[in-house]
Amino acid sequence: MRNFSIIAHIDHGKSTLADRLIQICGVVSQRDFQNQFLDNLYLERERGITIKSQAITLPYTAEDGQTYHLNLIDTPGHVDFSYEVSRALNSCEGVLLVVDASQGVEAQTLANLYLAMEHDLNIIPVINKIDLPSADVEEARRQITEDLGLDGDEAIAISAKDNINIPAVLEAIVKELPPPVGDSDEKLQALIFDAQYDPYRGTVIYIRIKEGTLKPGEHIRFMHTEQEYKVEEVGLFGAKREAKPQLTAGEVGYVIAGVKNVADTKVGDTITHQKQPADKPLPGFTEIKPVVFSSIYPVSTDDYPELADAIDKLMLNDASLTAAKDSSGALGFGFRCGFLGLLHLEVVQERLEREFGLSLILTVPSVRYRIYTNDGEKMEVENPSYYPDPSTIDYCEEPYIRASIMMPERYIGSVMTLCLERRGENSNMTYPSPGRVDLSFELPLAEVIYDFYDKLKTVTQGYGSFDYDIIGYRRTDLARLDILVNSERVDALSSLVHKERARPRALHAVKKLRDTIPRQQFKIAIQGAIGSTIIARSTIGAFRKDVTSKCYGGDISRKRKLLEKQKAGKKRMKLVGNVPIPQKAFLAVLQSD
Ligand code: GDP
Ligand code: MG
Repeated sequence: MRNFSIIAHIDHGKSTLADRLIQICGVVSQRDFQNQFLDNLYLERERGITIKSQAITLPYTAEDGQTYHLNLIDTPGHVDFSYEVSRALNSCEGVLLVVDASQGVEAQTLANLYLAMEHDLNIIPVINKIDLPSADVEEARRQITEDLGLDGDEAIAISAKDNINIPAVLEAIVKELPPPVGDSDEKLQALIFDAQYDPYRGTVIYIRIKEGTLKPGEHIRFMHTEQEYKVEEVGLFGAKREAKPQLTAGEVGYVIAGVKNVADTKVGDTITHQKQPADKPLPGFTEIKPVVFSSIYPVSTDDYPELADAIDKLMLNDASLTAAKDSSGALGFGFRCGFLGLLHLEVVQERLEREFGLSLILTVPSVRYRIYTNDGEKMEVENPSYYPDPSTIDYCEEPYIRASIMMPERYIGSVMTLCLERRGENSNMTYPSPGRVDLSFELPLAEVIYDFYDKLKTVTQGYGSFDYDIIGYRRTDLARLDILVNSERVDALSSLVHKERARPRALHAVKKLRDTIPRQQFKIAIQGAIGSTIIARSTIGAFRKDVTSKCYGGDISRKRKLLEKQKAGKKRMKLVGNVPIPQKAFLAVLQSD
């Protein structure tokens, strides 16, 4: 048995290589094969990112004549899900590190390598895409040696797309990675690294057995949540789940134990037996909590029941998504949702819109602030609607992160500037390898969730990688920024901001609304305000939009079509006072330039 994972910079061919390995080992028949088998959420396939980790067992008969079980554990590829990556790597002994022969080593190659090293994994470098005319295998070998400190001459040169030299990868997994260690007679310790919801069986928990043996009928305990269950089924992952009489130390598989909600299993928790439990859980568990909050409303208030149903369904399979009822004067009923980060938010939004056909409005994402009032009370506020009267506030605190940004040395100036603009403090620099810098900065989380990652990618031309840990709360100068349309507050556009950042944010919102709200027969005033102080303003002049003016002559059916189109457009608008605000205006305010 061998347990391994594939890591790579995005687009270097991780999913394509996984597909080839799955095909060669004959797990899936040619007819059933769908490209990028592991990325089975269509959204992941489309965006080319892997969000949830997945696992599959590949039976492989090696040159030595023995048949091995190769457990391939796919890892999510984004910082929002870094905790899940970490747990998934914890279930492996080694990784394939894929480098694109035409691109060479890039930011995420290095970040992934460090993660693998942190988990003491064996690393097999693989150079992919050697079929490309622009491939430079020798240069890739040189970079693997010099930038990564691995043996570039040993790297296996392949083409995942054209199926060149894939068997060499399989042989290397068998020869270079150690089999898992662990004692099947020890007390049970099984690491949870993922969980998925199955409508017929409930929660299917993905585990790596570190010590001991697990069988159906046994009573188990989750060591951190202290919940107890009875095992119904255990098994391995082929193309489908394959039930087995037991799972033993070293194996990667699944357990079904009547767990109703995915949220009841925590990734990183340890499963042990109720009788004769292990002395202590496996290390590294932390409870993942949402850090970014936004309210989700249906564009049409009639769609609220559908939205409620869709969010329930998503939550079955996504333990890190939280939701509570919310309501807004402008937008009606909706949900206040909590996310792991901005990508997580976008993924949820896209799934709601595309899988469930909903059309949605999301409010400005916020972090959770601590507000201490004059009478000594402490409140936690992430929703601008619950921001108390400022005269009752003693002081506020906001969450801070320690960001670790890795990049080639030449970008250091622009990245420093970006971090300082975002109220960064206490920077520190290390050089993990020549020419590369690891810059650490303490930053307010609120400054990072807005558009930091996009900006970082721009100033480093895609070479900057970014990871962060939350380090605690610090005092801050907080205010609620309101947006007024014809003097009426649009509650869904209010946001909690640092006072220093209020004016640029207000100018941005006012400008976006001016550009996206259609002219009316009357003047529209748009203002940004803190309390009664106006800090930004703009006006949309009066104008009657005549959509039929483009139709010369008397083609009445064409005229009617245009008018109908205009009517349909109006349905996607929200009235604030007497001003219709289109959905795209709410969205535009959220986007950065
Ligand atoms: P991932 O982001 O690392 O999972 O990368 P993918 O496996 O999704 O591949 C990214 C792109 O590179 C896709 O368009 C693949 O078809 C292409 N690709 C992957 N492997 C090869 C290869 O060996 N040769 C060529 N020419 N293209 C490849
Ligand atoms: Mg992929």
